[in-house]
Amino acid sequence: MEPDSTRPVLCTHCNGENLVGKRAMSVFCRHCRKRLILEDYRINTYHSVRLFATCGDIYVDRTGQVISPIRVRNLTVQGKVKGDVEARGRVEVTGTGELRGDITAPLIRVEEGGRIEGFCRIGALPDNWLRAAFPVK
Ligand SMILES: [Zn+2]
Repeated sequence: MEPDSTRPVLCTHCNGENLVGKRAMSVFCRHCRKRLILEDYRINTYHSVRLFATCGDIYVDRTGQVISPIRVRNLTVQGKVKGDVEARGRVEVTGTGELRGDITAPLIRVEEGGRIEGFCRIGALPDNWLRAAFPVK
């Protein structure tokens, strides 16, 4: 595969780095062999699962409600989230957003009016988290 057609993603199970095709939707981790979801999600209804994990981004609309631990690249919360969040990139809570759970992420942004209830661990995280979330163009 040409370098241009791949991007680095981090395994949502073992944090191992994988190079995947730009258009791939899922792939098996070369470290732990588990299946990785690479898709982005937009949630505008009630969504409750045991673990919501993707190497892509999750966008929770104003009408969306997620009750689940989340492992993700970037998370935007306009609606409600209840569950611990582990993001490789950015967590953003807008003025209408409500996040109840502990957050671990290199970057967190909360707009005026947005609510967070839980512990936050920001920055000083493994280098490969940022590399996968914000690949150098
Ligand atoms: Zn893995």
